Order: sequence, then structure tokens, then C-alpha cells
Amino acid sequence: MPVSGLPPYDPQNVFARILRGELPSKRVHEDEFALAFHDIAPQAPLHVLVIPKGAYVSAADFHATAPEAEIAGFWRAVAKVAKDLGLEQPGYRLLANVGHDAGQEVPHFHVHLFAGKPLGRMLG
Ligand code: AMP
Repeated sequence: MPVSGLPPYDPQNVFARILRGELPSKRVHEDEFALAFHDIAPQAPLHVLVIPKGAYVSAADFHATAPEAEIAGFWRAVAKVAKDLGLEQPGYRLLANVGHDAGQEVPHFHVHLFAGKPLGRMLG
């Protein structure tokens, strides 16, 4: 059981399949550590997901067990995606759901990047 309390990593989860190229995605960035692509059901004018290339169930799992180079590489990719999309000035929001109460649907760690309008208060 990973540290998040979620089940063990499922290599058939949808983001693992996207990483392997078995499912399509609208990619905006890819490097050694991370892949970023548009969410299939956007909840803001711009809604991008950034995922690590490694097999981690959740943010808890990733931050407890990933090598430091992967953690640094992942977060640099998140920042680069936002910068390259021109979001630093208007601003953007990062969000990661972990586990049941947060409503995490896909058991591969991912960060949501929302932007494109004033986003209001943190929890809708
Ligand atoms: P979460 O609830 O934090 O686990 O978020 C999972 C996100 O993955 C949701 O916003 C979904 O819309 C998104 N999603 C699910 N399947 C796909 C897919 N095939 N391509 C892109 N985004 C997806």
C-alpha cells in the first residue's frame, strides 16, 4: 500500500496509458520527467494536467518515494508549462487531489493547472 492509502499503482490507469501512447492526448509539453496535456473535461478556459513519467499513485506517494531529481524535474516542468503558456502575469492555479475525500479519480499523481479567467475563491 503506497503512503497515500490508495491502492497499489495500477499500470492500466488512464494516465499510464496516455504515457505509453495507448490513448490520445492534446500534449502541451513533454520532457524527461513530465508530460502535460489538456484535460478532457476542462473546468476553466485553460485546464492542463501535468503528470510525472514515473509510476506514482498520488502526491503523497510521489513526494515520499520519488528520487529528488524526479521531484525537482517535475515541478520545474509545471512552472515551465505555465510560463510557456504565458500565464505568469494573468496568474494560474495549481491543484492536486489526493485520495477519497479530495475526489481523486485517476490513481497516477497529477497536478491540475487552471487559468484563463479570474478563478475566484479556492474551493468552489
Ligand atoms: P482527479 O479528480 O484529480 O483525479 O482528476 C482527474 C482528471 O483527469 C479529471 O479532470 C478528468 O477530466 C481528467 N481525465 C480523465 N481522463 C482523461 C483523458 N483521457 N485525457 C485527459 N484528461 C482526462
